[in-house]
Amino acid sequence: MGNTQTKHKIRPTTTTRLVDPLRIKKSKFVMGIIDPQNDFLRGGALAVDDANDIIGPVNKLRFILYDYMDTFISQDFHPPDHMSFASTHGLTPLTNIKLDLVMADNKVLNVEQTLWPTHCVSETPGSNFHKDFIILKRDKIFQKGTKSNVESYSAFGDEFANTYENTGLHKWLLQKEITDIILVGLATDYCVYNTAKDAIRLGYRVHLILSCVRGVKPDSTKKALADLSNRKVVFYDDIEDFCNANKEIIEQSSN
Ligand SMILES: [Zn+2]
Repeated sequence: MGNTQTKHKIRPTTTTRLVDPLRIKKSKFVMGIIDPQNDFLRGGALAVDDANDIIGPVNKLRFILYDYMDTFISQDFHPPDHMSFASTHGLTPLTNIKLDLVMADNKVLNVEQTLWPTHCVSETPGSNFHKDFIILKRDKIFQKGTKSNVESYSAFGDEFANTYENTGLHKWLLQKEITDIILVGLATDYCVYNTAKDAIRLGYRVHLILSCVRGVKPDSTKKALADLSNRKVVFYDDIEDFCNANKEIIEQSSN
C-alpha cells in the first residue's frame, strides 16, 4: 500500500476559469439580451431615448438565430432601498456621489455611483420584460442588482470581478462551451458596456450590433463604444451586416 498522494496533481486555487479557444475547437455562439425591461423603455422610470426602436430588430434577430443557439436575458432586479437609487440617499437623480460600501466580507469599498430614479424594483411592473420583446421558455434569465449594497451593471455581476454578486452567467456559458456572445439591449453606455467588458475579461469574443442597442447619453455612449473597440469587440451596423459576416460560423454553432 504505497502513498498515492504524490500521484495527484496540485489543483490551482483560482476559481475563475477563462475560456480557452484552443480547447474548444470551433466557435459556439450565444445571444445575450440585456435588460429588455419596462422601466428602460418608453414610459418607464428610466426610459432610454429611442429604446423602443430596438424591439423590431432584436425580435428579427431572434427569428434568424432561433435554430442555431441559446439566448440569455439579463434582468435588473433591485430591492426598494438599492444603493443606486437617488431616493435611498435623499438626493436628486443623475447626480454622481462617492459611497463607502461595507461589503459582506467587511471590506469597505469607496465607489463612485451615478444615482438613478427608482427603477426595476423586484416584483413590480417596471422590472418585467416589455411585452413586445419575444421571450421564450427556454431562455436563460440572470437577475442582477439584487442586493441593497451592490451595483451590477454587468450581466455577470458587480464591477469587482463579480466578487460580491455573481449571477452565474459565466458558469452557464462555460458549461455550454460558448466562445462568442452576440450582445443586444439596453443601455449601451452602462449595462451593455459593462457586460461586454466582463465578457472580454473572461475570454469571450463579443459581437455588438449597433441597430439593437441604445444608450442613456450620447457622450458616454460614444466613450463606451470607443473603449469596447479598443478591447476588440466586433461591431456591426445592423443584423444584415452581422449575418453576412458570420453565416458559416453561426451554422456551426447549432448542436
Ligand atoms: Zn439598475
